[in-house]
Amino acid sequence: MLYIVSTPIGNLKDITFRAVEVLKGVDLIACEDTRHTKILLDHYGVQTRTTSFFQHNRFTKGEYLLNLLKEGKNIALVSDAGTPGILDPGYNLINLAIKNNIEVTMIPGPSAFINALVLSGKPSHEFFFAGFLSPRAQARRNQLEKLKEINSTIVFYESCHRILAALEDIKTVFGDKEIAVARELTKKFEELKRGSAKDILEDFKQRKPRGEFVVIL
Ligand code: SAM
Repeated sequence: MLYIVSTPIGNLKDITFRAVEVLKGVDLIACEDTRHTKILLDHYGVQTRTTSFFQHNRFTKGEYLLNLLKEGKNIALVSDAGTPGILDPGYNLINLAIKNNIEVTMIPGPSAFINALVLSGKPSHEFFFAGFLSPRAQARRNQLEKLKEINSTIVFYESCHRILAALEDIKTVFGDKEIAVARELTKKFEELKRGSAKDILEDFKQRKPRGEFVVIL
């Protein structure tokens, strides 16, 4: 069985009893970064063996993990944060397991875009999750122009390195529409800013933007 296990997006306490039980009980835990996940595992006294499964070894390691699953081993898949498969290499292993008739189940938990969407107070009965915007300026602007045609709430992830450029482009494309920016969710400096892209941009320009971001349009 392949267990997809959601882990915290910041606060180590945001994990379910079942997730810890599964992590303790499986034969192997596949993690994006074994050193990063070790902090969580140590916190909960999980001594299960870990192996890395990340962007650059996802195909070779995927085959290796698939063979173990076929032999009858139980494997848990976790990512650096949140729900595996949401914008991380988890998707590749999940897809491979399904194609090979391996039983797959999921232990639910946090995902940054759900927290951000709900906290933003924007309509959430219908929304579009746009993943990451392109790091290239022209491509990002084109993406935003396309997103403008969507008639529902739009959510996307952004890094601290590109949040100012993204807000600049949102200001250009979306004008003074009221948006929301979530930062460092569940962490000590959690923040949810609501306002126009112009106002939020000005604020973040005053202090170097740090941490992880979710933008809601
Ligand atoms: N699998 C993760 C999930 O379920 O949310 C997402 C992985 S994606 C590679 C990482 C991005 O998620 C970050 O760049 C950031 O935009 C967003 N993110 C993750 N944790 C966050 C947090 N605590 N606060 C705000 N955004 C976060």
